[in-house]
Amino acid sequence: MRITNKVAKWIVIIYTIVVFAIVLLPLSTKAKEFPDLSQEAKEKYITNLTERISKELDLQTTPKLYFYNSSEWAVIASYYDGLNYIYVNLGAITSYEEATRVMAHEIRHDYQYEHMNDNTEYGRALRANQQNYISYYEDLDGYKNQFIEKDAEEFAINYVGNVMIMEIVDHTPEPEEVTEE
Ligand SMILES: [Zn+2]
Repeated sequence: MRITNKVAKWIVIIYTIVVFAIVLLPLSTKAKEFPDLSQEAKEKYITNLTERISKELDLQTTPKLYFYNSSEWAVIASYYDGLNYIYVNLGAITSYEEATRVMAHEIRHDYQYEHMNDNTEYGRALRANQQNYISYYEDLDGYKNQFIEKDAEEFAINYVGNVMIMEIVDHTPEPEEVTEE
């Protein structure tokens, strides 16, 4: 009887340790996924990323950001031509990678806007497409395959491929504590 109790006790102890190891270790070492971040931390990540990409694209003006939250609305971000701002739906972003790709795409539209009047092959291609721009609700394939959208998406995919996303996460400062007044 005593031995059985002792064994049972040890089984409980070992079981507890194993469960702790399985549940707590990954939680403590794994960085938070984007949807788990606080609103402030999400905004910080997107703001930091926008400044970074704008600098890399040598933009004259960094786009202004407007944040909102809607899990029902699938559009993640939209760029408003010439107004120099990007609407960002924080509720629709499922990962850091997605956030980075979508923001790189939208910021590239701002770069295109700044180069729209250049007397270069790139500027001419932008202007030609601008005059016949196809909206996604008109024709989804036509929208994806036009120069302006292909250029933005190609930039975004290359950006995600080259950048260390975790490095951006690490360099995103923690939002400051909000003190109640
Ligand atoms: Zn686009």
